[in-house]
Amino acid sequence: MIIHLSKDITEKEKSALLAKLQELNIKSNLVSTQFRNYIVGIASDDFDIRTIGNLSGIDDIHRVSDNYKMVSRKWKVNNTIIDLGDHVKIGDKELSIMAGPCSIEGEKQIENTVQHLLENNIKIMRGGVFKPRSSPYTFRGYGIDILKLFYKHCSANGIKVITEVMQVSQVEEMIDYVDIFQVGARNSQNFNLLDILGKVDKPVLLKRGISGTIEELLSSAEYIFANGNEKIILCERGIRTFERAYRNTLDLNAVPILKDKSHLPVIVDPSHGIGIRKHVKTMALSAVMSGADGIIVEVHHNPEMALSDGHQSLYHQQASIMYEQLRLTRKFMTENL
Ligand code: PEP
Ligand code: MN
Repeated sequence: MIIHLSKDITEKEKSALLAKLQELNIKSNLVSTQFRNYIVGIASDDFDIRTIGNLSGIDDIHRVSDNYKMVSRKWKVNNTIIDLGDHVKIGDKELSIMAGPCSIEGEKQIENTVQHLLENNIKIMRGGVFKPRSSPYTFRGYGIDILKLFYKHCSANGIKVITEVMQVSQVEEMIDYVDIFQVGARNSQNFNLLDILGKVDKPVLLKRGISGTIEELLSSAEYIFANGNEKIILCERGIRTFERAYRNTLDLNAVPILKDKSHLPVIVDPSHGIGIRKHVKTMALSAVMSGADGIIVEVHHNPEMALSDGHQSLYHQQASIMYEQLRLTRKFMTENL
């Protein structure tokens, strides 16, 4: 059950409400986000919400039977739109494209990528500075100093920055230099990290875990919301199956299912999803056809020399053709389906 509190609820009304819920043996959690205040109550299925409906200080009450509640569409019917400022929105009519290298490697590379994004009217640049790598002997990222440089070049050109945060202690040092925090597949159930990201007022792109179910992804998103941050973006990036012919199995079934179950925007990562450069475009187009709100894709000005994931990074020229096709596909979808 979600109780939507009135904006002008008094402390006295709030206490009376909490006392009533306690008397009814309903476990309640106060959720205060950057937008509203709510009480999430865990009530039995046969609880009659009219029992408390007439108490003052309440705007609305919704029954939500899912384990995750605040991120469920059973409560909020309309799509959530994330506003990054400067007319950059995620989850709105326009397809969101986030592009950039797997890792940020140096100033020249940042400049090359920014130029590529400007030429293609792309407003969000991706790039890792803290890299989760399967082997400890591979490149782990250049860290906070390069993030500052990354942010400087992007903000000077009206481009937003998305980058991965790997641990709780990085949040504070990174916060002034990111527009979207990315939570990687390996950290999808790092609940301490999710708790902290719920306490900041920056959007969070949450990737699905390597063997994460839809329910687990939504429950992780619920952690962020329950801690106070409503600005959450879900990301399908492929899951681990028995198939070894490609890096991961990009589960595009997840897109319509997530859109059905949740009001949050859904982004697809075809680069990690298939892990093979020549098929990335096909999967990106398929993601748009599946109803995704956007894609996050790896591109590189010289993939052969990339310090990570060069094999799945698109050449800039290749990517430019793809963006055009993605936008046309999106247009076809919105006009015809
Ligand atoms: C990445 O985006 O470069 C990355 C490491 O992604 P994932 O967490 O999906 O593996
Ligand atoms: Mn990568």
